[in-house]
Amino acid sequence: MKQSYLRRSWVEVNLDVIESNYKIYKNNISENSEVMAVVKADAYGHGDVEIATCLQNIGVNYFAVSNILEAIKLRDAGIKGEVLILGYTPLIMLQQLFDYDITQAIISKEYGLELMKFGLPIKCQIALDTGMNRIGIDADNVNECEIFIRECHKKLHLDGLFTHLCVADEVDECNIRFTKLQIKKFENITEKVKDLDLKYRHCANSVAGLKYEGMENLIRLGIILYGLKPSYEMTLPNGITPALSWKSVISMVKTVYPGETIGYGCTYYVDEEMKVATIPTGYADGYNRMLSNEGKVLIHGQEAPIVGRICMDQFMVDVSKISDVKAEDEVILLGEIENIKFTADDMAKIIGTIGYEIVCNISKRVPRLYITNKLCKQDIQ
Ligand SMILES: *Cc1c(COP(=O)(O)O)cnc(C)c1O
Repeated sequence: MKQSYLRRSWVEVNLDVIESNYKIYKNNISENSEVMAVVKADAYGHGDVEIATCLQNIGVNYFAVSNILEAIKLRDAGIKGEVLILGYTPLIMLQQLFDYDITQAIISKEYGLELMKFGLPIKCQIALDTGMNRIGIDADNVNECEIFIRECHKKLHLDGLFTHLCVADEVDECNIRFTKLQIKKFENITEKVKDLDLKYRHCANSVAGLKYEGMENLIRLGIILYGLKPSYEMTLPNGITPALSWKSVISMVKTVYPGETIGYGCTYYVDEEMKVATIPTGYADGYNRMLSNEGKVLIHGQEAPIVGRICMDQFMVDVSKISDVKAEDEVILLGEIENIKFTADDMAKIIGTIGYEIVCNISKRVPRLYITNKLCKQDIQ
């Protein structure tokens, strides 16, 4: 892809950072646990094939996605390890599950029975509901769970059991108790079917892997792999940083005068002479419209506040306090420059959401550029 084409709005993903985040995380969890890289939703907007390939090259063998198209895409790209679908797969696609050697989560009893009816030993793991009430078999009915697990074990290729924790990122006593109870419910059931020797048992997402220890042997690492926080208050292990930067350029600079307004709806009123820069990125790129008159960008290592509403393809910022600003200058929408940074978590905080949503929503019209300092094979010869 030509550099000239990219210089409108583009994302840079640093694969060295992904690798180092993974290694730092691994050093912070129990030695008995392997990491399953959660690369659903195009690896949280970072590019699933690129991230999975990068991790496969350093020995990661477990991947999780949200649906069968994501799973098949990984297989077609040469991802060899276990690929677990964490959610629903339409029953008309069961043959593909089998053909592509994909592992399906059994999301309910009814769903499991359909899989058994299909008559092929499809690889699967049973989701246990320990309190989130999203998917899974109700872990409160221990005996029923046991019978069902044994039945699946007979008729399918049952590989494991997992559950999902829903307040593991919280620090107050009540939520810690809730999480411990979830883990306990999970362990009650794994204990009951110990004799089946199921390969995988897992409860933890990124944050729980750092804070809780159970009898699990896999940790589902999502958001922290990408260097973002499960919740804003949390501090990440030293050295873990965002792998993604989002950049754009200035398309024009102008002076506006008192009495004028800026943008759709005339929502920004100019009361003193001001220099305004236009940036060719908008909500069609996934730049959230809630940032209108609220967000900021970094230009020449300084903050420039957003003025007026975010348009579909453009928005405006106040650059009065920044010197020598001109068309073509680089703008950092998310990232770090000269020791000031503005992360997806920071952006999320402004509009009352989470970093996950910010990076997932960067639209496909924004090209992703992959950066690594490692020598490529052709560089070495
Ligand atoms: C998305 C997801 C994860 C990853 O969660 P993070 O908070 O991103 O680490 C783990 N498990 C399940 C079931 C998920 O859906």
